[in-house]
Amino acid sequence: MKKDTLIVHAGRHPEQQHGAVNPPVYRASTITFPSMAALEESSKAPFEGVRYGRFGTPTTFAFEEAVAALEGGWRSIATSSGLAAITGALTALLSAGDHLLMVDSVYGPTRKFCDSVLRRFGIETTYYDPLVGAGINSLIRTNTKVVFVESPGSLTFEVQDIPAIVEAAHRHGALVVMDNTWASPLFFQPFAHGVDVSVQAATKYIVGHSDAMLGTITTTEELWLKVKTAVAAFGYAAGSEETYLGLRGLRTLGARLRQHQESGLAVARWLQSRPEVTRILHPALPDDPGHALWERDFSGASGLFGVELKPVSKTALAALIDGLEHFGLGYSWGGFESLIIPAHIQRTASNWKAEGPVIRLHIGLEDPQDLIADLEKGLERMRKAS
Ligand SMILES: *Cc1c(COP(=O)(O)O)cnc(C)c1O
Repeated sequence: MKKDTLIVHAGRHPEQQHGAVNPPVYRASTITFPSMAALEESSKAPFEGVRYGRFGTPTTFAFEEAVAALEGGWRSIATSSGLAAITGALTALLSAGDHLLMVDSVYGPTRKFCDSVLRRFGIETTYYDPLVGAGINSLIRTNTKVVFVESPGSLTFEVQDIPAIVEAAHRHGALVVMDNTWASPLFFQPFAHGVDVSVQAATKYIVGHSDAMLGTITTTEELWLKVKTAVAAFGYAAGSEETYLGLRGLRTLGARLRQHQESGLAVARWLQSRPEVTRILHPALPDDPGHALWERDFSGASGLFGVELKPVSKTALAALIDGLEHFGLGYSWGGFESLIIPAHIQRTASNWKAEGPVIRLHIGLEDPQDLIADLEKGLERMRKAS
């Protein structure tokens, strides 16, 4: 089955729902059993079937089945947010005394979790250069249990050589966990590239409408029970409504993401031609340093990229951002609407050099000509305020 067909079919069982195309939102904490024997039987396989709301309902299972099929993994676990999926996966796979290799361009809150909670629990994190590739080999220690990758990196969009990193990690018995949010399961296939655990901030493109917090952890067959057991022990349950919205959003992922890609590239190319811009951080542009790897491993690009501006004052930058009509100023991305935010880049293991400020754009589903006209006026305001 091709990807677009799979997006329509994955996790759908209308015959179990009176023929309804989508499963209803099952709202449940208590699940009642017909007899003591049935109750006892259900506790033999604690995560199979409907047992207790926190472990999932038919809505959750449909969503998890669909995500696992799209990511190309064994099974998925829905969580209350993307960050919960990351922290759930890491705590499931790491114990006191273990070592974690974490990419330096990682999503900020993931870094914060490593430097606070994981450190407090005796797990050491070493950050590594996103461009390390096979060189990861020399950073792996005997107690390295997990190599965490995120490609392209948050805010700076470096593309990682996932197959090279996977090869080195596996040779040393370490697992590879990937934050695959930027590409979504549509444009990067984590398991086909050897990744062991893939995380999605489903809040972004899967939900797709900026109205729900949701995460997923997808694993190989060997790891699923271990991760599910840990996530269940923490009580990280996804809400019923959110899970439904995730499943609903997923059905249009292909159509939306191709438009985000096309409009994103149109805006990125226009910005590239502007004198106020130093460079665009977008791996689908041919002159991006990550372009060759992106072309080799990805089948598309989403609508999120970075822009490094020539040096300007904070007042001038605010003149650009504050007057925009079509770009909201706020966190998150992946919805139908365009967003802009100044990027605060944190590095401890690699060099990041930018003379001017970096902004991050999410290109929504508006007409790109309107977005370009809006940005053109913004750059004009910036110039006047400089
Ligand atoms: C937003 C984001 C997350 C966290 O997702 P939430 O649902 O906001 O918790 C994780 N990773 C990346 C790359 C993100 O952009």
